[in-house]
Amino acid sequence: MTKKFYIKTFGCQMNVADSRVMGELLLKSGFEKTEDPSTADVVIFNSCSVRKHAEDRLFSNLGLTMKKNPSARFILAGCTAQRFGEKLLKRFKKLSAVLGPGEIFKIEKVVRDVLEGKKVIATGRTEYRFVERRADISENVVIGRGCNNFCSYCVVPFLRGREEYRPSSDILKEISCLVESGTKEVILLGQNVNSYRDPEKGLNFCELLDEISKIKGLLRIRFLTSHPKDVPDELVVLMKKNEKIAKHIHLPVQAGSNKILKQMNRKYTREKYIEIAQKFRSEIPDIAITTDIIVGFPTETEEDFFKTEDLVKKVKFDGIYVFKYSPRDGTSASKLKDAVSEEEKQRRHKRILDLARKISLARRASFVGKTCDVLFEKNEIGHNSQNFLVFKKGAKKGSFLKLEIKDVKNEMLLA
Ligand code: SAH
Ligand code: SF4
Repeated sequence: MTKKFYIKTFGCQMNVADSRVMGELLLKSGFEKTEDPSTADVVIFNSCSVRKHAEDRLFSNLGLTMKKNPSARFILAGCTAQRFGEKLLKRFKKLSAVLGPGEIFKIEKVVRDVLEGKKVIATGRTEYRFVERRADISENVVIGRGCNNFCSYCVVPFLRGREEYRPSSDILKEISCLVESGTKEVILLGQNVNSYRDPEKGLNFCELLDEISKIKGLLRIRFLTSHPKDVPDELVVLMKKNEKIAKHIHLPVQAGSNKILKQMNRKYTREKYIEIAQKFRSEIPDIAITTDIIVGFPTETEEDFFKTEDLVKKVKFDGIYVFKYSPRDGTSASKLKDAVSEEEKQRRHKRILDLARKISLARRASFVGKTCDVLFEKNEIGHNSQNFLVFKKGAKKGSFLKLEIKDVKNEMLLA
């Protein structure tokens, strides 16, 4: 009997990409995928530890699934596996394996071992491998793993290790392969893509983008995430002239107060951030700028928070992810007294979200009457270059159409 596996992903785009790799490796070695955990022989949870909320959700989900399908073998992969390692096997008697994000390429062996009844702990780091896969219209491509920045609130560098980049030759080969089997857009992934360095040829991120854009048949390139301290003028110039690069940059600001930015170890000031954003907007007027913001950092006063609100109004973000600060063991900020109450965090969270929504709706409304290039990842649902969702009745999956935007509804552009 073919054994069935189920994978559930928590957290970021990197985890989505990692789950995809694990799924593909298992399919290749003859396992079958199921979307229903109660029918699975092996259940894999790919976890996130960035905030406590994500971990709480993971643990309650894991417990529930273990109750529903007591005969399955359970593997906990991802950042939470890395964080707690062996302790998890003690806490969850039904858990068979912990598999850190650096070891996802071992998944086949881990699955075989747990099916034989073994317990496995894999929290080292293996070399990145290019895994061929059935291509979708839009595909994530990991260009590097890990992070060297040690923002004071963030657990990522501790769990995913130091920065390590893939050779451009390997990345180009992967993308060419994907494009040959139908991919039209790639999303380059890294914690801080702008610090990319080709370990073989020394190409920087802009040079890598330029090389990727020469791949025939590839229509659009996106990338995530850019750190404001590492954005070169060269990137603005390249995004302006290279038609294949999407007119969108995700540039997490985190906070608008210089005091907080310093304590976060972000290495830029609000003035510098605003200057970068203005440079993008003046060179590429229709660019979308999106961001991440943390509210309720331990020392954030009302006045600091106003500075964040003020920055949001100045930059007029096209989209904002807002997070309530969550202390993480091992990070330097976790040693500060968490002085902002939960209610206050909630209030600040809501205020930024309401403001963000108003601004992003106005930004979307400004597209009515304009013509956009839309790539349809699904029938009738696509994205324009700015990464706004676009609906067009009758549009076929995979088509790339020039469409006039007629209206905006629930943050979606209607063509
Ligand atoms: N390397 C990326 C992604 C990091 S995690 C980057 O620098 O943008 C994604 C987002 O989660 C971060 O941008 C930050 O806004 C948020 N985040 C990270 N740690 C957090 C914490 N301890 N509490 C609340 N939000 C956090
Ligand atoms: Fe975390 Fe900062 Fe690295 Fe992003 S850049 S992963 S926020 S340490």
